[in-house]
Amino acid sequence: VLDQLNSLKELPAITKDGYRLPLWVNTGLAADVARSLERGAEGIGLYRTEIPFMIRDCFPSEMEQLESYRTQLAAFAPALVTMRTLDIGGDKALPYFPIHEENPSLGWRGIRVTLDHPEIFMVQVRAMLRASVGLNNLRIMLPMVTSIHEVEEAIRQIERACRELNDEGYDVKRPPIGVMIEVPAAVYQTRRFARMVDFISVGSNDLTQYLLAVDRNNPRVAGLYASYHPAVLKALDFIVHEAHKEKKHVSICGEIAADPGGALLLMAMGYDVLSVNANNLLRVKYAIREVTLEDARQLLHRVRMMHDAEEIHQELRRSLKAFG
Ligand code: PEP
Ligand code: MG
Repeated sequence: VLDQLNSLKELPAITKDGYRLPLWVNTGLAADVARSLERGAEGIGLYRTEIPFMIRDCFPSEMEQLESYRTQLAAFAPALVTMRTLDIGGDKALPYFPIHEENPSLGWRGIRVTLDHPEIFMVQVRAMLRASVGLNNLRIMLPMVTSIHEVEEAIRQIERACRELNDEGYDVKRPPIGVMIEVPAAVYQTRRFARMVDFISVGSNDLTQYLLAVDRNNPRVAGLYASYHPAVLKALDFIVHEAHKEKKHVSICGEIAADPGGALLLMAMGYDVLSVNANNLLRVKYAIREVTLEDARQLLHRVRMMHDAEEIHQELRRSLKAFG
């Protein structure tokens, strides 16, 4: 099987009937870049910028951030690199920026932190913009948004950073800006967000946690964390249709995309890009190459009739076997 997967490195993710689905990667550490390119990743759908922040003992300077961002951008250019602004809080802690809360998942995290600390946000955005000078393959993505005004404020700050840098003599352009849909409130505002931004990306890990009210890291309720819960699939279906009404590109970067069965469902729903971790890229590619788009659509049709996560999971397993 390993040999079979390795032989796919250079080949595109294309169905038997010629439908092409771009496969991008999620990165965090510098080492992810080489592994991803080697497996034929066509872009970065999620660079978790908080990961390099987590393995240090103080906030990195603009210059230090610039260097690590430049590495990711340069390695993939001209392919697109989607950098998420700092997503700390919740389950992601910085040792030098402690947050103590009773209920961190519902607390101060993601965009909420960075909008309260424009100095942190601006340094990061300036570093991203400076890193992309001459490459122009940067996209900026905002995590954990729930409200229109958060997006407006973040866009204002990014545009301000562009102006500042232009005044300082850097040739930066306003990059495409996108939002993550990862809380239920955002799901129902997808169309409104889509009008404001250039792209939408679904964070299905958090979205599942918040839709099902199940802590994604609590082993006691791990059995209830069901990526294939019908409510989750309905939300994923709804998001892509709403975003496409505004002709906006929709990707998904949560773990459901990295599961071959999930990937087929998402392709059938119409997701424009799947972003997966490098470890799963070839498995997903293999699954896509084994089916026709019509097979995947019929699978989605069957799954839409089901009302139980376990039943859906079984159906995906059974179908994947049948496809080869
Ligand atoms: C997600 O929530 O699905 C996601 C991709 O972001 P993270 O896992 O980093 O929270
Ligand atoms: Mg998330």
